[in-house]
Amino acid sequence: MGQIHDPQALLDAIAQEIRGHVPCGFEICEQATNLVPGEGSATADVVLVGEAPGANEDRNGRPFVGSAGKLLDQLLEAAGLRREEVFITNVVKARPPNNRDPTAPEIAHHLPWLEAQLRILRPRLVVPLGRHALARFAPDLTIRETHGHVVERDGRTLFPMYHPAAALRARRLREALFEDAQALGEWL
Ligand code: URA
Repeated sequence: MGQIHDPQALLDAIAQEIRGHVPCGFEICEQATNLVPGEGSATADVVLVGEAPGANEDRNGRPFVGSAGKLLDQLLEAAGLRREEVFITNVVKARPPNNRDPTAPEIAHHLPWLEAQLRILRPRLVVPLGRHALARFAPDLTIRETHGHVVERDGRTLFPMYHPAAALRARRLREALFEDAQALGEWL
């Protein structure tokens, strides 16, 4: 009984369900090496949501462990946060082959897991990373106009940021990301 309201136990149960997801006909679920549930603190104030695992994440079963993940770690540090105190996950829990964009049916197939994680975590702030993640929370907003700002949507407080992988390709975005990380730290 005691475990029922234990957020860690509930998140662990979702992670177990995701990892044990039986190939279901969707290409991304069939081809994944590991599904990537996400990880972090069950009492996190801040939840960062990326789009989908990449090759490194697929190999390791953990979110943001490749070069975009290294940049994300630096951004968290700039915001005065440690990786262990936030929760990091993705809209889609399986790697789309060749890093293609996930399709709408694939997103719909995976979205209940993210919704369940957010219902348990009930964070103060959700940080959608990049336009694909932002589209799940506020399809009418653009990342260019809202990055680094707090936006209220459907009872959630959002703080959109550019995706770290995009900033690896464009220096201008890297500077914006670090400015936004500092603004995030100040808001918190
Ligand atoms: N990009 C994402 O959106 N998520 C990851 O976990 C890694 C890279």
